[in-house]
Amino acid sequence: MNKPRLAIIPGANCAGCDYSLLDLGEKVIEVLMAVDIAYWPTAADLKLEDLEKLPDGSIDLVLFEGAVNNDETEEMAKLARRKAKNLIAFGACACFGGIPGLANVASKDGILRKAYIKSLSTVNQQGTIPCKLTRLDGIELTIPEFLESVKSLDQVVNVDYYLPGCPPPLKLVAEALTAALSGKLPPKGTVFGSMKSVCDDCKRIREDKKITEIKRYHQLIPDPERCLFEQGIICMGPATRGGCDAVCPTVNVPCRGCMGPTPGSQDQGARMLSALSSVIGLEVETGVSDEEVRKLILQVKDPLGTFYRYSLPKSIMRRVWGVRE
Ligand code: SF4
Ligand code: SF4
Repeated sequence: MNKPRLAIIPGANCAGCDYSLLDLGEKVIEVLMAVDIAYWPTAADLKLEDLEKLPDGSIDLVLFEGAVNNDETEEMAKLARRKAKNLIAFGACACFGGIPGLANVASKDGILRKAYIKSLSTVNQQGTIPCKLTRLDGIELTIPEFLESVKSLDQVVNVDYYLPGCPPPLKLVAEALTAALSGKLPPKGTVFGSMKSVCDDCKRIREDKKITEIKRYHQLIPDPERCLFEQGIICMGPATRGGCDAVCPTVNVPCRGCMGPTPGSQDQGARMLSALSSVIGLEVETGVSDEEVRKLILQVKDPLGTFYRYSLPKSIMRRVWGVRE
């Protein structure tokens, strides 16, 4: 009997999503026995040509990991779509742009200038910035060229399923693989995760308290029972899709938002700002002055990296032009 074909195709990723597969432990052996691996450069010695030679639409399940940030990862995304019967955006970077998406606070030229000329650790007297065709010691190299902005997978090709997380939670990986291998995938467009927020899974006590000060995580030892947000620590739980069993707040660490926006919310950062404004009591009737509000908000260090850590390319803004190099 023919086994289902599986491919795991990387974009701009850190390979952390691969580890979530290995976290399946012994079950990963069962998965590997049940499938025919068509491509998985982290684990199998298969070449890109092997993947390209397969007929279009012949791979039952393709997991695409990582964002799309240059012409090479863009080509890999298109290849993944051509070959896949079912394409899953696997992990926060593929789903929302993820950490690589934070590059969208700067221009492509600004990033290259910073990396190759301006950074303190760089010695580059000629000011050379590598471009697509680069000559190095007499050898001509073709290197991938950055896109103007980092994109999520579905900003490049149609995506069938989403499995968010950084890395994706083990139980959701198992759920998706089981569904795919048993031919029981849910309707296209499904996000593997909960239909509620991280707060709904969190066991901490919420008392509807208002905060007067925003603290950074290292500035206090949080009460292990009470809601972190109500202790003044920015916890992205209210704005983040559940499905991870609230693992971070469970171990006294605030949620960073890696499961992406809550169902029905288009913009995770905007949703979080709304949660923040309600916990700091910004309702008109409280009579908080603009100056008090400004002082409180200024206590959020790195607001963009806090509220849009994983989702800037999929936010309503998508990118921020000309902020910094
Ligand atoms: S804000 Fe954080 S700590 Fe508070 S209930 Fe939500 S997930 Fe738990
Ligand atoms: S609690 Fe938040 S940061 Fe932690 S795994 Fe869940 S969604 Fe990701």
